[in-house]
Amino acid sequence: MTGQLVELKQEFEWLNEINAQSLQSALKNLDTAYKNFFRTKEGFPRYKSKRDNFQSYQCPQHVKLDFEKARLYLPKFKEGIKIILRREFTGTIKTVTISRTPTNKYFASILVDDHKPLPDKLPIKEETAVGIDVGIKTFATLSDGRKIENLKFSDKSLHRLKWMQRKFKRKKKGSNRRKRWQRKIAKVHERISNQRSDYLHKVSDAITKQYNTVCIEDLKIKNMVKNKHLARSISDAGWGMFGTYLKYKCEWRGKNLIEIGTFEPSSKTCSVCGGKNADLQLSDREWECTQCGAKLDRDLNAAINIKEFALNKTGWAVTEEDTELADTGLGVEVSSAFQMGCS
Ligand SMILES: [Zn+2]
Repeated sequence: MTGQLVELKQEFEWLNEINAQSLQSALKNLDTAYKNFFRTKEGFPRYKSKRDNFQSYQCPQHVKLDFEKARLYLPKFKEGIKIILRREFTGTIKTVTISRTPTNKYFASILVDDHKPLPDKLPIKEETAVGIDVGIKTFATLSDGRKIENLKFSDKSLHRLKWMQRKFKRKKKGSNRRKRWQRKIAKVHERISNQRSDYLHKVSDAITKQYNTVCIEDLKIKNMVKNKHLARSISDAGWGMFGTYLKYKCEWRGKNLIEIGTFEPSSKTCSVCGGKNADLQLSDREWECTQCGAKLDRDLNAAINIKEFALNKTGWAVTEEDTELADTGLGVEVSSAFQMGCS
């Protein structure tokens, strides 16, 4: 990898401004991305440009933080960078990821090993488990009957965004006015994404506090992205982000997360008698089971089934297999990660 770097540095002089560990870390990420692509045949690594709106880089070594002076010391920044600390921490810094948002805000996410073991997993029990069905109309339906509405941020701001984009296109390329509009648009996008992640944090917090076992579907978004319009709704819904939050919050709180495959027919099976309804359409919000006559709400029925499938999969009681399942969350040694703003 070092040889590769030497060659690259000759070709692109600006790479010399950056410390070697960060460059190696970028190459390593790229290597992992390619390996994943060749293994799974999906997610070909995206080309990253120096001019991309969103930029980030990692510093795996030689990072120091002075809490009193509120300064972060990175390689090639000897004077340190003044920062706004979100909160203090103890432990060893593992990596620091510096990112810049499209509106030119800089963030440093610090991954810390606090050397405290994660709490032991609570036992998997039916009465403290919940199944979650995610959807477009309703963001999530819980097997206890609660429905969590989808916050359609983009729809709310869509009109304004479209108008802004139209105006933006009419501005002369390279002009200051055009740049100003680009920043304005980026600001709206950033606000939307902040609101969405705030919301998903609140929802995932509440669920992982209340329940000891969380059952969800493995959300293979690619299955649904075929419909252009649907794709928009799905990316708005932020399912992937939701799944990630649930996973690591379960780890932190000693809760269990069980994923089931999407191939398991959670919507088409009656949660009362187990009868199948092969004719069920995506537009059917309610249906009646032809075998037992139960009137079913599509999403609630799915949530109950997801819970049932997941619990059956683990055999309800804690076995060795469960412990393995429980261990498939995020890196075990990493106990706290957070963000702070830089000024
Ligand atoms: Zn039935």
